[in-house]
Amino acid sequence: MKITDIFKQKDKTFSFEIFPPKTPEGDIKLIHETLKELSLLKPDFVSCTYGAAGGNKDKTLALVEHIQKAYDIPSMAHLSCITHTKDEICEIVKKIKTKGIQNILALRGDPPRDNPDMIPGIDNYKHSSELISFLRKEYNDEFCLGVAGFPEKHPLSPTKEFDIKYLKHKVDCGADFIITQLFFDNELYYDYVKSVKAAGITKRVIPGILPITSYDGLIKFCSTCGASVPDKVHEIFAPIRDDNEKLIQTGIEFAVNQCKELLSNGAPGIHFYTLNKVYPIKNIVEKLRKFC
Ligand SMILES: Cc1cc2nc3c(=O)[nH]c(=O)nc-3n(C[C@H](O)[C@H](O)[C@H](O)COP(=O)(O)OP(=O)(O)OC[C@H]3O[C@@H](n4cnc5c(N)ncnc54)[C@H](O)[C@@H]3O)c2cc1C
Repeated sequence: MKITDIFKQKDKTFSFEIFPPKTPEGDIKLIHETLKELSLLKPDFVSCTYGAAGGNKDKTLALVEHIQKAYDIPSMAHLSCITHTKDEICEIVKKIKTKGIQNILALRGDPPRDNPDMIPGIDNYKHSSELISFLRKEYNDEFCLGVAGFPEKHPLSPTKEFDIKYLKHKVDCGADFIITQLFFDNELYYDYVKSVKAAGITKRVIPGILPITSYDGLIKFCSTCGASVPDKVHEIFAPIRDDNEKLIQTGIEFAVNQCKELLSNGAPGIHFYTLNKVYPIKNIVEKLRKFC
């Protein structure tokens, strides 16, 4: 099922992002425990990353196919383009289609860690908009296409206005909806949605939410993806950084409050960055049921 078909039935969706593990043990845990438990929460859709933060690319399609077949949950493959040639993208998309995957999060992706200054060549798509144009040209409406949005602007963008201009371009090229980078201050999301609307974009902007499960991990994660950590997050979580149980409970409470406020102020659902963890997500989703 296409995610846009779910939008026709529901004002608000809740969805999960998972990532392909790096080890065989991680694969077993994800397939035999994590996905089973996450599926019991009946998400509207699940997405799987593709090479994010230097991670795995080879398992994304198999995992997405597995989620669809084993749990009958609509799923979305992330696909990033700058590290592939256009011919490689062509082959990957053929595989996506053969596997019956109908949803793609079309991304530029980041340069490889060992070549951070990589400049995409003539054989690569340089931006997600070029990938989207290719998909629409070759496949028309066969795929539902999501894109990434950045409430605090993409780290490479000179200004927020520049970013919104290219977000509009992505939508004009054929994107169906937007999932945001994580943020902890809801005002960033509200301001972003205002700018998105002012630019004439009418597609859903689904907030991406990361439940905090580690203070040090959070600082590291945010420094790589360019999301800011507000003072209130430091104040709440730094003093309990070594008390794992307390930190996780506080992280759940923080995420529940953040999501409740977003949903009651019109957000069209929540996309959870699960980091392949069940416990916090289960607790958060159960507390939010009546809002979604
Ligand atoms: C929800 C979400 C999921 C993600 N999943 C993954 C994943 O699975 N794998 C992964 O590797 N990364 C992932 N990322 C990270 C993402 O790939 C990086 O942030 C990457 O640097 C930008 O990708 P993009 O698709 O936004 O790029 P683009 O849309 O190409 O934008 C990148 C920059 O270029 C500018 N720009 C866009 N189009 C043009 C244009 N035509 N001309 C000039 N400038 C332009 C934009 O304003 C922005 O500054 C994800 C990010 C988000 C928010």
